[in-house]
Amino acid sequence: MNLQQFLRQSFDRDKRHFKKKDNGTKLMAPKVIVVGAGPGGLAASLMLAKAGIDVTVIEKSATVGGRTKVIERDGFKFDLGPTFFHYTEVIEGIFRAIGYDAREELNLNKLDLNYRLIFGQGGQLDCTSDLELMKEQISALSGPKDGEAFMKYVKENRKKLSLTKSCLQSPWKGFSDLISKRAFRAARVLHPTRSVAKDLTRLFDDDRLMLAMSFQTKYLGMSPFNCPSMFTILAFLEYEYGIFHPMGGLGSVPVRMSEIAKDLGVKFLLEEPVDEVLFEGKTAIGVKTSKGEYFADRIVVNADFANAMTQMVPDSKRKRWTNKKLENKQYSCSTFMLYLGVDRKYDLPHHQIYASKDYVTNLEEIENKHQVSWDDPSVYVQNACVTDPQMAPEGCSTVYVLVPVTHQHENVKWSEIKDDYRNRILDQIETKLGYENIKDHIVTEMVITPDEWGDYCYRGSVFNLAHGLDQMLWRRPQNKFEDVDNMYLVGGGTHPGSGLPVIFESARITSKLLCDDLGIIPDWNGESVWFEDSVKRSKKGRAAEKTHRNNIPVKANSTNV
Ligand SMILES: Cc1cc2nc3c(=O)[nH]c(=O)nc-3n(C[C@H](O)[C@H](O)[C@H](O)COP(=O)(O)OP(=O)(O)OC[C@H]3O[C@@H](n4cnc5c(N)ncnc54)[C@H](O)[C@@H]3O)c2cc1C
Repeated sequence: MNLQQFLRQSFDRDKRHFKKKDNGTKLMAPKVIVVGAGPGGLAASLMLAKAGIDVTVIEKSATVGGRTKVIERDGFKFDLGPTFFHYTEVIEGIFRAIGYDAREELNLNKLDLNYRLIFGQGGQLDCTSDLELMKEQISALSGPKDGEAFMKYVKENRKKLSLTKSCLQSPWKGFSDLISKRAFRAARVLHPTRSVAKDLTRLFDDDRLMLAMSFQTKYLGMSPFNCPSMFTILAFLEYEYGIFHPMGGLGSVPVRMSEIAKDLGVKFLLEEPVDEVLFEGKTAIGVKTSKGEYFADRIVVNADFANAMTQMVPDSKRKRWTNKKLENKQYSCSTFMLYLGVDRKYDLPHHQIYASKDYVTNLEEIENKHQVSWDDPSVYVQNACVTDPQMAPEGCSTVYVLVPVTHQHENVKWSEIKDDYRNRILDQIETKLGYENIKDHIVTEMVITPDEWGDYCYRGSVFNLAHGLDQMLWRRPQNKFEDVDNMYLVGGGTHPGSGLPVIFESARITSKLLCDDLGIIPDWNGESVWFEDSVKRSKKGRAAEKTHRNNIPVKANSTNV
């Protein structure tokens, strides 16, 4: 009998009655099923397993990582999705909680040059965390006033981060949370009516600098003209903490996380898509796959929120997030991707970004007009082999090309234009980013359009639900999902949002809430097990905390679920 058959049998046997007493005293550990082995699902599994919970991850693909994985072709390795690993503080905290050192385990290599940013209007910046050097470069590009403005930007955003951090680290239940201490702190630096772009024009005279400090809103799949001013912190995080390349590619991070999860007792069922969540009334009790039914005390959904809801949870069970309401939400942009294996090296930076000379029109086309930009598209290229030669055969390199484009929309028929667009983009990276004669050096390649991303996320919007104020904080699907009982969310579709640091934060928030709900005070090696302020514990959580304070050891396997 293989592991999968064994697990199915044991789930069948236990059904919902797994809390059998052993010797009359010991109860079995509570069970949690995590749907999806993306970064969010894996981070939650690690924390929950360390808290003594019996965790099973059910993943539809043959490998872990979701959009964060390494794909391989003809000896060339490419990151499928994320290539910028920044603000590692969150994953470092998660690793400390489970007794590991993230920097060692994940082979994190801090890049000297964060990235080269080339402006279509002319000029470039070699963006670095050496703030004095940045100031010098900015002064040379745009004059000393903007050089000083950069230092002011850094100072303001350092304060903004410290005052808003707990808003991102805590769950939001509703409007009433706006009168919490954390909201009052944040209110001192947030200007809800201002966009990122508007906030930055206050500081910089040169439009190119507004762009340099705001294009990072693309990490949320949004234009800086629509993105709330809170997110000026995104560029700041890069300058303050730098950008890391995990050796072997960013996709090696989830692989290592899954290995550690297995050591902590997490079971993985791969190549087994969850077809539906099983319910008793409004309470989630398990999941159904083509191979069987599995039951658990709590279900954590990591699969993209809108896809998961429309595919796994009956519309009739949802009130706030019905199919109709989901259809009318705003979604982030998508990406057109080229993964090129080339038979030469390029002496170019690890990360390069070209910003269209008419950046505003380019954004308009992506977000509002839902058209493809042909004239002068913005494009990002990763040349990973300058840092990590093992990603390609000897003498060769991998070139990863990302073009922000509209999510799936009737205006764009990718099957008809993808070959022409591929050629347009190759010309663009040759002329704007220095990839000389690249067409002559391609030995293998793959193309991904928003249509393929549709397998991963609703409408192929790779950064999930958009991050306008109308879809943030309590207006985003909550970590303890509000529409049904015993279901939790992790990943880019829930609070705080998309991008790896906040996805890991979502895993921390969800793990804390779930443990509280089960009455478990986890042993996370001194890392915080609850939120800074204004978040009420559940009844069981309060009882567990009281017992814990009185120094009576609380173990998951003695928990009354
Ligand atoms: C092209 C691209 C570039 C990006 N660049 C960056 C970057 O540089 N930096 C950054 O921080 N972020 C970046 N992101 C955003 C984000 O960090 C990643 O997309 C991240 O992988 C999202 O993690 P997640 O856990 O939310 O979901 P996912 O990675 O999508 O994982 C969800 C998992 O659920 C599984 N699943 C789905 N349906 C089912 C089902 N029915 N049954 C079982 N399993 C299921 C999926 O197979 C998948 O493994 C990028 C994203 C993309 C696509």
